[in-house]
Amino acid sequence: MIAENLKQVLSELPEEVRLVAVSKFHPNEAIEEAYHAGQRIFGESKVQEMTSKYESLPKDIEWHFIGHLQTNKIKFIVPYVALIHGIDSYKLLTEVNKQAAKINKTVHCLLQLHIAREETKFGFSFEECREMLASGEWKELKNIQICGLMGMATNTDNVEQIKAEFCSLSSFFQEIKSTWFANEESFREISMGMSHDYHEAIAAGSTLIRVGSKIFGERRY
Ligand SMILES: *Cc1c(COP(=O)(O)O)cnc(C)c1O
Repeated sequence: MIAENLKQVLSELPEEVRLVAVSKFHPNEAIEEAYHAGQRIFGESKVQEMTSKYESLPKDIEWHFIGHLQTNKIKFIVPYVALIHGIDSYKLLTEVNKQAAKINKTVHCLLQLHIAREETKFGFSFEECREMLASGEWKELKNIQICGLMGMATNTDNVEQIKAEFCSLSSFFQEIKSTWFANEESFREISMGMSHDYHEAIAAGSTLIRVGSKIFGERRY
């Protein structure tokens, strides 16, 4: 079932869009099934869960951390994480940099923007993000690389609203790209789109969709 779901989602993706298979709360066997069907990028939202999966599963898996990251747990994922999607404060960025420097690594990160109407979603506002970048301090952080932006749309059936939120993230990406990263090819990711809204996200310019339940089924909490 997992392999079929995966093939279905992959068949809908334009070439430039990559799939993060969100395997949180699903067992290793589920990941192995997707792995054997060819999937290599997996997303997790809990540090301990991701680390124990990393330790027991094939080493060519690219692990993406998509959850809310606590500073005291950064050190556990820095040695192997391929991309941290949810950087939502300058402090978190500096902490990732600090842990990465300790082991002489460069960690790839995305800045999370708050584009949804719900108050509960994490992330910078556009204004906070502009201010953070304008301060210039981040340029001193040599052990992180900002590779793009991430966002989550409001959990609603209102497709027009979802589209508008994704489009706002896309245009903000263009603004940030041209202002701060015009010459940096590595600044190129827009991580947006989940099981119920990835079609809208792709239409709005997503480069990384994060799909869980559509592939693995409903989560067992
Ligand atoms: C759980 C989660 C997803 C995947 O959600 P589905 O609805 O299962 O596709 C995507 N992004 C983030 C940040 C998540 O926490």
